Order: sequence, then C-alpha cells, then structure tokens
Amino acid sequence: MHGKKTLLTSQWDGPPGPHGSPWSRRVSMRSVSSQLEQADAGVGRGPGGPPHNLIRCSVVGAVCFLWASAAWSADFSGKNALEYTRKAVAFGPRPAASPANLKLQAYIQSQLKLLRCQVSVDAFTATTPIGAVAMRNIIARFPGTTGRAVAITGHFDTKSIPGSPFVGANDGGTSTGLLLELARVVNSMPHSNDIYLIWFDGEEAYGEWSDTNGIYGSRHLAEKWTQDGTLSHLTALINVDMIGDVNLGIMQEGNSALSLLHLVWQTATELGYGKYFLDEGFATEDDHLPFLNKGVRALDLIDFDYGPNNEYWHTAKDSMDKISAHSLDVVGNVLVAVLRKLQ
Ligand SMILES: [Zn+2]
Repeated sequence: MHGKKTLLTSQWDGPPGPHGSPWSRRVSMRSVSSQLEQADAGVGRGPGGPPHNLIRCSVVGAVCFLWASAAWSADFSGKNALEYTRKAVAFGPRPAASPANLKLQAYIQSQLKLLRCQVSVDAFTATTPIGAVAMRNIIARFPGTTGRAVAITGHFDTKSIPGSPFVGANDGGTSTGLLLELARVVNSMPHSNDIYLIWFDGEEAYGEWSDTNGIYGSRHLAEKWTQDGTLSHLTALINVDMIGDVNLGIMQEGNSALSLLHLVWQTATELGYGKYFLDEGFATEDDHLPFLNKGVRALDLIDFDYGPNNEYWHTAKDSMDKISAHSLDVVGNVLVAVLRKLQ
C-alpha cells in the first residue's frame, strides 16, 4: 500500500493510463493540506448468485418473509457482493443499450423485487458522440419517515471498447455487486430517512471523456430530481466506483464534500479499516459531480490505482481475478455504518 502511495505521488500528474490513453478521464493530484483547506462543497438467488433464499409466502392474508438460508445475515457480506459482481460480469461487456446491459438491468430488478423497496426506472435518451442512446437508471427507495433522504450510488454500465473483451469486473461490476448486497442489508436495517440505492447507466464516455461525454445517467437524474423536488430532501450522496481491487486503497477525492469525507474516514478508522482509506488526495470526475454541482453534499469513493501504473483500468485485464470479497467487505461495512450515522 505504501508503494502504491509513492507511485501515485511521484509519477501521477494528470490523466492516468499508458500514454494518456484516449479513454482517460480528467484526474489531478493534490496535496492533502490543500485539499483540507478547500471549503466543504456544502454544503433470490440466480445461477451462482448469493444466498437469496427468500421465500415469500402468504399466511392468513399476511405476507411473511422467510429467509431459509443459514448463510443469511443482517451484516454486509463481501462474499455475497463478489458473487453479485460475478453474475453481472458473466453477462459480458455491458455498454448502455447493449443486450448484456439490458439483461443486467433485468437481473438487478429481479433481485430488488425480493425486497421491501420501491423500484423505479429513470429512462431517457442520451445524446452521445455515437448518436442517441437509450439509457436507464435503476432506483430502489427504502422509505423512511422523516422526509429526508440519503443515497448510495454507483454505475452498472461498462465502457464501450470496440474490439476489446472488456468486462469491467472492477469498473462497473463491483459497484453493481456492492449495491445489490447493500440492498439486502438495508432491507432489514432500521432507518428513519429514506435510503436510495441507485444504479447509474451511461457513466462511461464514448471515446474521450468531456463535460458532455460521460456520467450521462447521473447528470440526467440530478436534473430530474431538481425539477421534481427530490433533490431538496437529499442530505448526503455517496458514490462508489472501482472499489473491489485486491490492493484496496481509496484516496480522498478532492471535489467531494469534506464533512462527508471525514465521516467516512472516521468510520473506517473506528471499524479497523483505516489502512484502506488513504491520507492522499486527488480529484476526479464521477457520478457524484452532477449532484455536487447542484449543492448536494456528495462524496466519491474510488480506488483509481488499479494494477501497476493503473494498467488494468479500461482493459481486458479488469477481470474477476483482480478483485476480492475482502475489499468489498471493507467498503460495504463502512457504508452500512455510515448509513446508520446518517439516520
Ligand atoms: Zn470506467
């Protein structure tokens, strides 16, 4: 982990990836001190899937839920999250509107239907460099009672890389799997605020990233929620991306709201996971940004140091053998503890 830090601070200065890959997103390094000076932004089981042995039965007019598996637990399981990830990855490359993307949407919704949440689909047509693309965010709402809401988000699409068998185990897969396991946990977790879990479509850019090419799903939902008023109820949003690396090290994303960042880092320390949440800062653009730009307290949790010189990122090397249940366990358990604090 320390080697990783040295590598990043000494060699990274600008877009990552070999030779400034055309797939680069804008990233910059910054010192922790300068970052700390920055003002707070303001303010079921399928084949091979996790133990979703939920049997729904009707007894004397009531619906009861019987968890039949001995493996079921109220705690977040990195192993379950990894199995959900494996399921998502097995669909193959999953760019927006692709057959695999649509199959994964159906799978996510089939899992959510087993839970006590309201599932909605935010469908829209994105204008992209390759033309109009139909995209769909999937939203699960676990209702609370206060009128306030918190959200945990991530993307389920993978980057379209013609000619490459890019399946995005970490980039697109782990965020999908972690959120599915989180849904299972939140389903039985007492909470007073609404909890939204959101799977964004169209996070990835077509070719090179720009202000108008990438994060299509989050940009659309932030605008929609501004118009319908939902955004005004949102007190915190945490986005996860690439959080399954076997060598997990999450840096402090510099656009993020400091109060939320401190809450997450403090919680990780309390759980004994401090070594995975690094002192270094850097800045990147991700699905938290459209919400930050609208004044929402938002944070991005991303380990953007994936393999030597980040060489697994957006390549065929981003495969299941590069990610671990333990890393997902770390991030998932921190998020569950943070969600409890945000009630
Ligand atoms: Zn990506």
